[in-house]
Amino acid sequence: MAKIETSAFLERLIRPNIRALEPYHSARETVQTGILLDANENPFLHERDGVVLNRYPDPFQRELRTKLAGWTGVEPDQLLAGNGSDEVIDWIFKVFCEPGLDAVAIPEPTYGMYRVMAHIFGVEVQDFLLTEDFQFDDQHFLTSVRPEVKALFLCSPNNPTGNLLDTDSILRVLQDWNGIVVLDEAYIDFADRPSLVSRVHEFPGLIVLRTFSKAYGRAALRLGFAVANHAVIELFLKVKAPYNLNAVTLREGIRALQHQVRYREEIEKIVSERRRVAAALAQLPGVNRVHASDANFLLFECRRASDVYQRLFEKGIVVRNRSSLPLLSGCIRVSIGTEQENNIFLQELEKELK
Ligand code: PMP
Repeated sequence: MAKIETSAFLERLIRPNIRALEPYHSARETVQTGILLDANENPFLHERDGVVLNRYPDPFQRELRTKLAGWTGVEPDQLLAGNGSDEVIDWIFKVFCEPGLDAVAIPEPTYGMYRVMAHIFGVEVQDFLLTEDFQFDDQHFLTSVRPEVKALFLCSPNNPTGNLLDTDSILRVLQDWNGIVVLDEAYIDFADRPSLVSRVHEFPGLIVLRTFSKAYGRAALRLGFAVANHAVIELFLKVKAPYNLNAVTLREGIRALQHQVRYREEIEKIVSERRRVAAALAQLPGVNRVHASDANFLLFECRRASDVYQRLFEKGIVVRNRSSLPLLSGCIRVSIGTEQENNIFLQELEKELK
């Protein structure tokens, strides 16, 4: 398929009402200091731990985006942060998917929110299946994707299977399909392969999702971000709530980026625990298979999975029963915890499988 120029590429994909939308302009877009009598705030200083609480935060997240850009190696206008990366998924539907007309493609089994969002927005799903080894079949996709499909959701490393998707198959789709390819890299920090954020300038349809909720220990903050062509980021700026990130999240996000050494150490510990738990699981009678993982969780297949899940739950050990998903019969997903938590999980699982 011939590649078309960026604006023409995106033009075809944007919902007409979003193309025509005159976005809301918030009070703090241009000025943040001075005699601020524009936003009907309380003028008396309310502050907690250095965060000013009585003023609206920066709607453009300028400082955070500059720091994130330095960290990921893209330009500040190629990224935008959301209230968790789940918020970015919401913008994708708002910008590109016309309810009742458009569709999205989801290769299963994968992260359930893509489908939930499609249902919320009234957007149809064209179902695809990952291969037996949980890879994305780009050739099958390219020959069978329906014309109304605007976006394809790929997750790498994939939740809940744990594996990276083959980079060449992702690049082939970006090369040969004129739609939006959402590449969710929530777990990329646990993998040996670098993120594909560096490729966004080549592909106007590529939107990479990253999050602070996994490797960076900030799930409670609700901070994720999209890296994409600046024209896509402009569209997200049009549809996002003006002050989507609160001042505490903005400040803590910037602070989090200063603790790289600590995260490196934690990621190494989690990855080494992942290896240990995988080896221990493989030794347990009743565990039929442990899938290779590039993430901070493991997917394993065991006998009587639903009973085992329930019995562990009753003992206060909470894992995820994934056995009703396509290709995952008998499968449980377990996050990698601390060494002690992992040991208790392994001991109790062993008892249940006897
Ligand atoms: N993508 C994937 C693949 C996930 O597993 C999750 C969380 N479970 C998310 C996105 C959502 O992340 P966030 O906390 O940034 O909304």
